[in-house]
Amino acid sequence: MTKSQNNTDETTIFDDVESNVQSYARSFPVVFEKAQGAHIYDREGNKYIDFLAGAGSLNYGHNHPVLKKALIQYIESDGITHGLDFHSAAKEKFLQNFKDIILEPRGLDYRVQFTGPTGANAVEAALKLARMVKNRTNVIAFTNGFHGVTPGALAATGNSHHRGAAGISLEGITRMPFDDYMDDMDTLGYMDQMLSDNSSGIDHPAAVIVECIQGEGGLNAARLEWLKGLEELCHKYDMLLIVDDIQAGCGRSGTFFSFEPAGITPDIVTLSKSISGYGLPFAITIFKPELDQWEPGEHNGTFRGNNHAFITAATALEYFWSDDKFAKSVQAKGEMMRERIETIIGQHPHANLKSKGRGMMRGIECESGEIADKITSAAFKKGVIIETSGPEGQVVKCLCSLTITEQELMDGWNVVEQSFAEILGNQAALKKAA
Ligand code: PLP
Repeated sequence: MTKSQNNTDETTIFDDVESNVQSYARSFPVVFEKAQGAHIYDREGNKYIDFLAGAGSLNYGHNHPVLKKALIQYIESDGITHGLDFHSAAKEKFLQNFKDIILEPRGLDYRVQFTGPTGANAVEAALKLARMVKNRTNVIAFTNGFHGVTPGALAATGNSHHRGAAGISLEGITRMPFDDYMDDMDTLGYMDQMLSDNSSGIDHPAAVIVECIQGEGGLNAARLEWLKGLEELCHKYDMLLIVDDIQAGCGRSGTFFSFEPAGITPDIVTLSKSISGYGLPFAITIFKPELDQWEPGEHNGTFRGNNHAFITAATALEYFWSDDKFAKSVQAKGEMMRERIETIIGQHPHANLKSKGRGMMRGIECESGEIADKITSAAFKKGVIIETSGPEGQVVKCLCSLTITEQELMDGWNVVEQSFAEILGNQAALKKAA
């Protein structure tokens, strides 16, 4: 199946008026119009399997019928749309479901802070709170970490492309190597040594911020024992542990929170992207009750009460998380993805491919970003929307909806497999000819 791209006339307004800052749109130069489940359609009626899913914001697929129905009913009943941080019936329902369905069954006792509706804002709140509670400035963040692009979050982000746009010095962060950053390096041992040495030059950190599976940084999944060790270091040096679960949370890793299988209890957790369940903007920062030292309105924001998102989020929690069926299906599909990845790697023994990720947050690392780009472009021509991540964009990253059927998942991976064969086959031929 070859896709015809929309003609240039149709995209002119985007070229003429939309800022140069646009990014995903460059990889998929069509005009999208409709979407349902794991599929998205362009204006010409071409159907694509969506292996990007709003960069992890559509864990339950596009326009899930149960969530859509709840939202339509709510809108038709003139339910509150914008409510600042008013107590609303929709917010009450979300908080109740979050407590009953997610927190209590996991033995977690967290306060919920409604931040501005982006992931970056949830991270800003987490960093501010940790610094305020500990009365210290420094925070440890990791190589390849991505936490958003507003100044506080950007300081914790590793990527130089994003950091370069800050326009100010990015401060208050000490960088440490993430798990498996270098071959044979004991990264936690190094961190322990640096923190214990009062001449290492590291100011006592208030907190450590970490993604259990680094999404934008290249699908680097920390080992569970590494996460456990990190928590122990946090206790040893009186630092708060912040888990940024904005991309890996809400079921993406196979459990609601990505840290669950590591048996750790972070002090602060950030959630956004798929917490609304419907792609609506919504973010929360949750933390242990004793950390709730905010003065009223200290971290503010007009859009902290997206009531439509409360409705879809509350419904999603009830529908997907009331028992373990959904989590088990995610784990099973994650395993299918792992097997497909192994197959592709086996087909190209000389291409230096590497399996990355955990749960349904997986991909294949290629030798270069250029190769990965060619593969994702080839996949797009065959009807699959898939992006890259990693410092050089060298990881072909599958972030499909968690509700995708096994058949749709395999159809998408068939295309990815063909695209690897097409590009790496050509690459091998080119190398031979040279
Ligand atoms: N933290 C993580 C782990 C992310 O993956 C992202 C976005 O990709 C963010 C924070 C920032 O979220 P937002 O783009 O909504 O500001």
